[in-house]
Amino acid sequence: MFIWCRDHRLHHRYSDTDGDPHNSKRGFFFCHMGWLMHKKHPYVIELGRRIDMSDLQADWMVMFQKKYYYPLYLLVAILIPTYVPVFFFGEHWWDSMLVCYFLRYVLSLHSTWFVNSIAHLYGTRPYDKNLQPVESWFVSIVTLGEGWHNYHHAFPWDYKAAELSDYINHSATFIKFLENIGLAYDLKTASPEMVLNRIVRTGDGSHYLLDNEMSRAAVTACGPLHPLNPTYKSTLKPPRRQGGR
Ligand SMILES: [Zn+2]
Ligand SMILES: [Zn+2]
Repeated sequence: MFIWCRDHRLHHRYSDTDGDPHNSKRGFFFCHMGWLMHKKHPYVIELGRRIDMSDLQADWMVMFQKKYYYPLYLLVAILIPTYVPVFFFGEHWWDSMLVCYFLRYVLSLHSTWFVNSIAHLYGTRPYDKNLQPVESWFVSIVTLGEGWHNYHHAFPWDYKAAELSDYINHSATFIKFLENIGLAYDLKTASPEMVLNRIVRTGDGSHYLLDNEMSRAAVTACGPLHPLNPTYKSTLKPPRRQGGR
């Protein structure tokens, strides 16, 4: 949790540069899983040291999890998921372990990693075309809402991590639920005017509501997962703001 937060803060501050632990400019394999098998870039080590983690260091629950990572992992990730089908459904412990630990872990890891790979490479950039991250409905389906990544990088402090909280976004629903029972608070979200402003100012013209034939034609993409990079490019000039320069 602590390590993930540090890497994630680095990822947002230095997105898609050498300071980003999973820099997507180094290719699909690197940003998907290669970065975990590879020596860290010196910038990642150096800049990682400078990231302020004092808020999490002051949080006893985060530090407890960090301190007892291995015993907790053994208990929560391996023993409990394996034990449940054996005890309740009479499954063989080996079958249970293969499905509830290994298979589940492989599937959830790859889904999570898709946020760093697919959602940085293959999709549209309706909020900010200058950012590498993209919107990906495919990644949102497999991660329960974490694939609206262009929005997330444009407004990283928005708890929804997407413009809409009710369109393939179960994470937002879950956080809202936690707020209702008092476990989450101070949820921040970007106002519709702020989002609209950003779309008009820096979007690539592919917004689901504000697009038109001209802007759709300006965004060219092809491939099995609509609308795919690496051929992605946008030739659309952002429309002039009313009364603006
Ligand atoms: Zn993020
Ligand atoms: Zn990202």
